[in-house]
Amino acid sequence: MKLLLILPENRRSYWGTVSKSGKAGFVRLNLPTIAALTPREWEVEILDARVKKVNYDAKPDLVGITGFTAEIPSAYEIADNWRKRGVKVIMGGVHVSALPDEALLHADSVVIGEAELVWARALEDFKKGRLQERYRSENLCELKDMVIPRRHLLDRRMYPTGFNTMQATRGCPFNCDYCAVTAFFGADFRTRPIPEVLDEIKRFDTKEFFFMDDNIVGRPKYAKELFKALMPMKVSWGSQASITMAKDAELLDLYARSGGQYAFIGLESLSQKNLDKMHKGWNSAKDYKEAIRKIHDAGINVIGSFVFGLDEDDKSVFQNTLDFVNEAGIDAAQYHILTPLPGTVTYGVLDKEGRIFDRDWGKYHTGEVVFEPKGMTREELQKGYYWIFRNTYTVGGILKRSFRSRKGIIKRLAANLSYRKKALRMPVVDRI
Ligand code: SF4
Repeated sequence: MKLLLILPENRRSYWGTVSKSGKAGFVRLNLPTIAALTPREWEVEILDARVKKVNYDAKPDLVGITGFTAEIPSAYEIADNWRKRGVKVIMGGVHVSALPDEALLHADSVVIGEAELVWARALEDFKKGRLQERYRSENLCELKDMVIPRRHLLDRRMYPTGFNTMQATRGCPFNCDYCAVTAFFGADFRTRPIPEVLDEIKRFDTKEFFFMDDNIVGRPKYAKELFKALMPMKVSWGSQASITMAKDAELLDLYARSGGQYAFIGLESLSQKNLDKMHKGWNSAKDYKEAIRKIHDAGINVIGSFVFGLDEDDKSVFQNTLDFVNEAGIDAAQYHILTPLPGTVTYGVLDKEGRIFDRDWGKYHTGEVVFEPKGMTREELQKGYYWIFRNTYTVGGILKRSFRSRKGIIKRLAANLSYRKKALRMPVVDRI
């Protein structure tokens, strides 16, 4: 039996696309994990549609497709094409779990929620000719004895070399309105046994990797144990983390000493009212600069993430945020337009208020306006997004950030140049 697993593409997004050298961004673990959950009697192929065209002349017995909301139009198109050829399609992932009825217009079957506890049953049902429309995991899976993703099924030439991805925890202890993490993974923050994490890292061919975790410091006690265990391995890593880590000097010290070189931190807004409204009030905007200083002092680079178009934002948010990024010495900044992803509280609120004007999911990559903002026009929000990206990644800005301190110059420069490449693809906006 042949199973073809496909990761679709998003042609509109500035992120996750393929570089001129033909490389995609970091390796996502979803399909290698599904492959590892598949009984070995199946022959499994993984196709990343971002880097390789789908060959519809192939003869898989079953096709599995996943994808973020912004990739869903591509996923549906691919699913429709296979079904026209008589091949059954099963879909899963965050978007499909939020809107299973929509997905069932394009797929024979959907997996709702985590696949771990239902995937083998779905395959068995398929084999016996009784594939169900829906497979819903009633419980969250244990992270003990997790399968090791079958990364070797990916064409490694298509991804950055020397850069592995992995996962030590699932979920997040917080529940910010616009975020799909807790809606999908549940409120229970789960952790893998540390020896299993170490065992997986030892299999890597390099010493550098990225924890795909949504918040690696979500449970500080676990994080400290993990970081201590990583120290003898002399590895270099980064992850997403909450700014709360700045309050714990020991955690910061262990993060850095275990090889943690950078942290993606969701600062989101400089308006405390915005943060409170999105249930992220535990982020204290007035303390951001001090928190960033502490993280820097520990030797960790900060990649700060901001969201625009929140209800308290007016046009001044772009200049104010740029000033803050420069003054706080943030090492790289990532900006997003508020995007109501299906399944999130934000989607429900904006939908109820009649403010979502575009449901072309391909635009839901956080770089296009799809809802009516309150404090500015749609056009001002869109232009402001382009303006701040281009004005953050000027040559002067990049040099200042990269040479902030001697340690880590190369990494900061590389990250900033990568953002600049994307910024230069955006329209020029003289005034906001
Ligand atoms: S802290 Fe980050 S991962 Fe956690 S719920 Fe908020 S946005 Fe999502």
